[in-house]
Amino acid sequence: MSQGSSVTAARAADPAPRAAGVSWPLRGGGRGSAVVAGGGGNALWKKLSLSETMTGRCVCGGVRYEVAGPARPVWNCHCHRCRRWTGHFMAATSCEYDDFTLITDATLHWHHPADDPNVAYGSCRECGSSLFWRVMEPPPDGPYVQTQCMWICAGTLDTPTGLRTERAIFTADASDYHTLDPNIENREWE
Ligand SMILES: [Zn+2]
Ligand SMILES: [Zn+2]
Repeated sequence: MSQGSSVTAARAADPAPRAAGVSWPLRGGGRGSAVVAGGGGNALWKKLSLSETMTGRCVCGGVRYEVAGPARPVWNCHCHRCRRWTGHFMAATSCEYDDFTLITDATLHWHHPADDPNVAYGSCRECGSSLFWRVMEPPPDGPYVQTQCMWICAGTLDTPTGLRTERAIFTADASDYHTLDPNIENREWE
């Protein structure tokens, strides 16, 4: 099923200052693990078996990745940065760094917004695909477990993903043309 299965996995260059204790993007021992740190909705994360590794890529294929662990349901982030960066809103799943591997990052570019350089938006500099979002230095043991994961633009995953959309966040920043989905949880902020 994996389009990248014939590609030898290569460890990618670290794009920026690495958060202490975070081994991204090296593959860890979490493959197939159903255990995810933190509470809240994590129990609802999709649990992947060894044969269910998810793969994804940008339009041109310059960036390919795989996810070999639990993946969160999709959240739609309407914050002003995600809105402009994606051109609409970011529909993203997320996974632990240990479960995330870049198969190739030949054209991957990380952008750090001037007003918050601690976050990084990952896109393809060749085809322009919006791919990833992450926090460079997550709070060590704060409540923000979602910032200790790689966020992945869900539309870049190969289908079927088996995922569902769970909620919208930062809806106060959504543009006025957009109609929010009343069938999911809508949070004005996070
Ligand atoms: Zn590309
Ligand atoms: Zn956002």
